[in-house]
Amino acid sequence: MHDYVGEMNAPASTAATPSQRQRKPDWIRVKAPTSPGYAETRKLMRELNLHTVCEEAACPNIGECWTKKHATVMILGDTCTRACAFCNVKTGMPRPVDLLEPEHTAIAAAKMGLSHIVITSVDRDDLPDGGASQFVKVINALRRETPQTTIEIQTPDFRNKPESSVAAIVDARPDVYNHNLETVPRLYPTIRPGARYYASLRLLESVKRRDPSIFTKSGVMLGLGEERMEVHQVMDDMRSADIDFMTMGQYLQPTPKHAKVIDFVTPQAFDAYAQIARAKGFLQVASSPLTRSSYHAGDDFERMRAAREAQLARVKAG
Ligand code: SF4
Repeated sequence: MHDYVGEMNAPASTAATPSQRQRKPDWIRVKAPTSPGYAETRKLMRELNLHTVCEEAACPNIGECWTKKHATVMILGDTCTRACAFCNVKTGMPRPVDLLEPEHTAIAAAKMGLSHIVITSVDRDDLPDGGASQFVKVINALRRETPQTTIEIQTPDFRNKPESSVAAIVDARPDVYNHNLETVPRLYPTIRPGARYYASLRLLESVKRRDPSIFTKSGVMLGLGEERMEVHQVMDDMRSADIDFMTMGQYLQPTPKHAKVIDFVTPQAFDAYAQIARAKGFLQVASSPLTRSSYHAGDDFERMRAAREAQLARVKAG
């Protein structure tokens, strides 16, 4: 998976007392989710037995996104086989794959009238294909039930799985293939110990090589102790893997058991990173404290599509 985490919805049992928490700057504060749109989205997800990364990862944007009926569906259950230091999704032995999940996801997208849907998943190291075939089934069900909806997937790294796993997903032709690098390579051993930075980069490169028409996307969390030049290096690495879209957002500690926030990056610093990323040639960049890879994903997809068309037109015009 994933999207990065927040803390608003951290379960009561694991929520920290204010004294245990680092005080958040004003630019991080968000409103509690109370709108009718929020309640409807929640009801629909429960009825269809679907999980969302919005809830499981305790995303701070849930009030805004669910009010607009935009949710990121998390397939393959609610239990992850990895235990990343930043992520609020529970870890353990997952339940068997829900065979109705593809159809239910498509029904949810149709009922919500989504023009763009984001699908992510937990890591399923226990499955021979890492859960790739379920991604394919979900994409196929969405194409069948709601053909006008564009599809963005955020997948695990499929580490130690056959190459055919990723190939099968690419061949199902999602519009956007996202896999988050999450942080700079130096911090992988503590923040993302089950993953390998260069393996994740190679995955995104292989997607682009197999089908250049698919947009590729990746993101990092800031505030985990990374240095500015290390973030610039990640941008260069992403560009050399031909990644189209980069996201950057503030890491928030979901519970005291998770990695600490080392610093709160200012909105101005996020803007400066965005400028540098644009200069490095990404088609699309999203960078702000509350940016998450699925935040405003539909609007950003349209901008990215327009940017590619403009780029192609320039090439044609010579
Ligand atoms: S930003 Fe993404 S994960 Fe967060 S609430 Fe919005 S859709 Fe859900």
